[in-house]
Amino acid sequence: MHRAGSSVSRVYRLHNLFRHTLDALASLAVPAPCRICDETLTAASRVPVCQPCLERLPRLQGPICSRCGRFFPSGVPAEVTEPLCQLCRRDVYAFDCARSFGIYERETVKAITLLKYEAISPLGNWFADRLFELATRHPDLFAADVVVPVPLHATRQKERGFNQAELIARPLARRLGIPLRTWLLVRTRPRPERLRLSRKERWRIVRGAYSTREGSQVDNLRVLLVDDVFTTGATLDACSRALKQAGAAYVAGLTVARVVPDWVVVRGPAGSVQGLATDVRGSI
Ligand SMILES: [Zn+2]
Ligand SMILES: [Zn+2]
Repeated sequence: MHRAGSSVSRVYRLHNLFRHTLDALASLAVPAPCRICDETLTAASRVPVCQPCLERLPRLQGPICSRCGRFFPSGVPAEVTEPLCQLCRRDVYAFDCARSFGIYERETVKAITLLKYEAISPLGNWFADRLFELATRHPDLFAADVVVPVPLHATRQKERGFNQAELIARPLARRLGIPLRTWLLVRTRPRPERLRLSRKERWRIVRGAYSTREGSQVDNLRVLLVDDVFTTGATLDACSRALKQAGAAYVAGLTVARVVPDWVVVRGPAGSVQGLATDVRGSI
C-alpha cells in the first residue's frame, strides 16, 4: 500500500517536473506575448492567450429571456419562471432558443478576432469547451441530432480559407458526441463588404440569405446552430428559417459572445468589463 502510494507520488512529481520543464521550454523557445494583455506567456499552451485573460473574459450572467437569452437589465420578478423579452413575446425569432457564453466587449472582441482572422484553432477548442458546459447545463434546450456551423458565403470562405464558426462547432460536436454537418446549410447571398451595419440593415441583408443544400435530409432534425457572435439575432433567425422550411423540428443556437447595449455594461479599472447591471431602468 505504502509502496504503491509512494510510486504514485513519484509519478506525480515526475509529471509536475515534466510539465514545469515543458512550460519553461515553451517560454524560452517561443517567448510569445499573450495576444490580449501582452504579458509573456509562461505556460505551455497552444492557446496564445494567458490563463488569467481567459478567466477574465466577461461571462453573460444574470436574468435573461428564457427563449433568446437576451439580458434583462431591469431584472425579473421572482415569480416569473420563464421570462420572455418583447421580441420573443411577438414570436419574432424562428429559432427555439439561443444562449451565449460571454459579452462581446473588449477582450472578447480581441479573442474572437484572433479566431476569425488567424484561424487559431486551440482558441476554437477553448470556446467549444465553454459552449459544451453551457449545453450540458441545459440538456432540455440543447439536446440535438446534429451540430451545424453558420456558413460563410463560398466566396468569403475561399478568401479566408476557413469558417470561424466551424472552428468552434467541430470540437463542440466531438465533445457532445453528435455529428457535425457543415454542408447542411449554405449562404446563398454574400454579406456586403461594409463592416458596420445598422440593426435594420442586418435584418434586411440576411433575410433569405441562407438555404439548406439540395438533397440534404433535414426532416424532423433537432439542430444545434453554432456561431461566434450574436448581434441582433438576425443571422441565427435566417438560418433557422431555412432549416425549419426544410422540415427541422427544433433549432437551438449557441454563440461565443453576444452584443449588449453599452449602458448595461459595468466597468472596472481600466475599462475592464465586470458584468452587467440589473438595476438600470428600461428594457431591451
Ligand atoms: Zn493575457
Ligand atoms: Zn427573447
